[in-house]
This record gives sequence, C-alpha cells and structure tokens, in this order.
Amino acid sequence: MKQRLQGTGMTSRRTRERMVSRLREQGITNGKVLAAMAETPRHVFVDEALESRAYEDTALPIGHNQTISQPYIVARMTELLLEKGPRAKVLEIGTGCGYQTAILAKLVEQLYSVERIAPLMKKARDLLWELDIKTVGFKHSDGGWGWPEHAPFDGILAAAAPAEIPEALLAQLAEGGIMVIPVGSEGRQALHRITRTEHGFEDEIIEPVTFVPFLTGVSQ
Ligand code: SAH
Repeated sequence: MKQRLQGTGMTSRRTRERMVSRLREQGITNGKVLAAMAETPRHVFVDEALESRAYEDTALPIGHNQTISQPYIVARMTELLLEKGPRAKVLEIGTGCGYQTAILAKLVEQLYSVERIAPLMKKARDLLWELDIKTVGFKHSDGGWGWPEHAPFDGILAAAAPAEIPEALLAQLAEGGIMVIPVGSEGRQALHRITRTEHGFEDEIIEPVTFVPFLTGVSQ
C-alpha cells in the first residue's frame, strides 16, 4: 500500500498537481478544497487497472454499476457546501469508493457517510482507515432516510440523483444548513443547493450534471 500511495508517472504527485491546476482553470477557487485534492491520492480509490486514468477529469467505474465522480464535480460540490461558512456536522449520501468522503473528512468537523451497497461501503471504510482517516461514521443504509440519530446536519451532500429530494433529508437539515444534491431523471439532472432559512428552503439551481440514480432500499 505504501508504494501504491506514493505513485509514479501517471499516479505521481505531479500528475495530481496538474489535476489541481485544471480545476483552477475550470473555476474552482476554494484553496482548502484544492489543497485537500492535491494531497489525496485519487488513484488508490480505483482498480489498479484504471490507476493511470485516475487524474483525468472523468468518472470511472468502481464496480456494482457505480462510478467515482469526476474531480471537477467533487471539487465543485465541496466548494458549494463550504461557501457560506464552515460546516460542523455533515452527512454524505453515496459513499461509493470513498474519494469524496476523504476530501470532505479533511474539511468538516464530523462526517457521516451512508451507502446502500454493502461491499462498496466496507471497501471505502477500510481504505480510509489505511489512509489514516479514522473519524468518519459509516452506515450501510438507504440514504433516503438520512441518519436521524445524528441529525440535524449543517450540511448534506448527495452523490446520486433522486427525481425529487427525499422529505427526510430536508427535515434533517439544520437551520442555516446547506444541501448540495443533483436532482432529476436520467439525462435531465441539475445540481441544486438548498439552504434552510428560518422561513423555509432556498433553492439555487447551479448547473446541469450527470449522476447515477438515487435508488431506494439496500443491496448486500
Ligand atoms: N462520491 C462517490 C460517488 C459514487 S456514485 C465516489 O466518488 O465514489 C454514487 C453512490 O451512491 C453509489 O455508490 C450508489 O450505490 C450510492 N447510492 C445511490 N442511491 C443511494 C441511496 N439511496 N442511499 C445510499 N447510497 C446510494
């Protein structure tokens, strides 16, 4: 693992820094987000056969019909979550391979992450432990239920797109809390940022995106 972490050639620190320069060109400005992405070895989150493509600006397969989100989207969603001030308690829905989880864990006080596919959740949990990221709470569950025991959250970030935002998630957002979530059916999704105010919910439509669908129930 140590050797793999270090990386060479297409998985080296220099390649990762090129990815970060590209993110800057694409309009990402939050220095903390860029720094977290510069120090997190994205290549260890994908299969060794795909390692050399880990720093391309593209989504890649991680098994079980799922994908690791493209670097730009990870950066953009994280930036949107943090833009209005630091977030203490955050819920992530759709752990996947755990890459976005690793980035968030470095930038918020306490992170909880929910994944409906058991082997993905277990693999991500073990990998983050190896990377010395040990403070994240993981749960194998349908994220549509949120995580009521830890609610309310100052931030919620979803990596899968529901047709409509589940009520439970809106209910578990604290006042002043921010949810970044893709919404819509396949081919017609947009990234939304929902802010809970004392009067209700503010909904900003950010940009068109392509995500895997937000599914209900769990898979073993
Ligand atoms: N940020 C992750 C994205 C993975 S893709 C990464 O970079 O690897 C989206 C993930 O959301 C998939 O792993 C999928 O299984 C999960 N997912 C979809 N619907 C879900 C739901 N209702 N609850 C929890 N996880 C869900």
